[in-house]
Amino acid sequence: MLQILDGTVVRAQILAGLKPRVHKLKRPPGLAVVLVGHNPASEIYVRGKIKACAELGIYSEKLTPPETVSTEELLAIIAELNERSDIDGILVQMPLPRQVDSRRILEAIAPDKDPDGFHPVNVGNLVAGRPAPRACTPAGIIEMLKFYRVPMEGRRAVVLGRSDIVGKPMALMLLQENATVVICHSRTVDLEEECRRADILVAAIGRPALVTSEFIAPGAVVIDVGQNRVTDRTEAERIGKVEEFDRKGSILVGDVHPIDVIHAAAAYTPVPGGVGPLTIAMLMSNTVALAEQHACSA
Ligand code: NAP
Repeated sequence: MLQILDGTVVRAQILAGLKPRVHKLKRPPGLAVVLVGHNPASEIYVRGKIKACAELGIYSEKLTPPETVSTEELLAIIAELNERSDIDGILVQMPLPRQVDSRRILEAIAPDKDPDGFHPVNVGNLVAGRPAPRACTPAGIIEMLKFYRVPMEGRRAVVLGRSDIVGKPMALMLLQENATVVICHSRTVDLEEECRRADILVAAIGRPALVTSEFIAPGAVVIDVGQNRVTDRTEAERIGKVEEFDRKGSILVGDVHPIDVIHAAAAYTPVPGGVGPLTIAMLMSNTVALAEQHACSA
């Protein structure tokens, strides 16, 4: 029977587990969120993160440097936040304006204040299997697979996409769960065939409904990370969502074809409502863990 992997249920469980840990701390965990300029999507993401902090009793502070900020000015902001004892995590919302060297900014965040798990030291910790903050979206997917008791050990997992924030850390986390992992990308030959061998298929490519039934083995568990806005009616028709398109003027779809997956997979994450809700929950989880670490070393 087809199972829907519901991210909202997993998120609720993660957040419920964090509340008593927050209460146990002598001071509330502190998260600084740096939002440069006025990118509408970034503003929505940041609002969601700050709301989640408020719900859990995490202190949050939003810093809003102007769109014209220089790399040096942002580095000075990060340096100051690194020194503050009431701030456990520093999040710089991406993307940054073109004049800013994003890599230098991310690398300036102290590794023990990196709730996104993007700092090279934390990426190295992930590779080495050491405890450290881990990239939120793939970490949330592992929580979801555990929640729904999807076996990973010995299973063939195919990760479609090799970005630093999803694909690569996802592959490493699945490896740590003893899956046999294959990473596919835009240069992969016989993409469909590679994906069809997967017991667990994670699609993170940013291509609306590219993963059709030809990519999915009967009985596979399909994790759809994609969040793509489709504004073309013909494309909406191909995806089988023309009625929703006509009602709303656009549709949100994942990287997996939402109709094909129903017929082919044993379990899948819908879009919206699958992977999406997990990312902020894991950001909260990483922030609380950092605060606990700081409390121990204080
Ligand atoms: P990204 O940085 O653009 O990386 C995309 C990856 O997919 C690249 O490795 C690329 O290969 C590969 N790719 C692109 N087109 C392909 C094709 N036709 N065939 C095979 N591989 C292809 O994207 P990302 O940041 O990882 O995000 C991926 C998707 O997840 C997006 O839709 C994004 O919005 C979504 N996302 C969702 C969440 C969430 O919370 N739900 C979080 C993060 C991202 P190359 O490396 O060879 O170019």
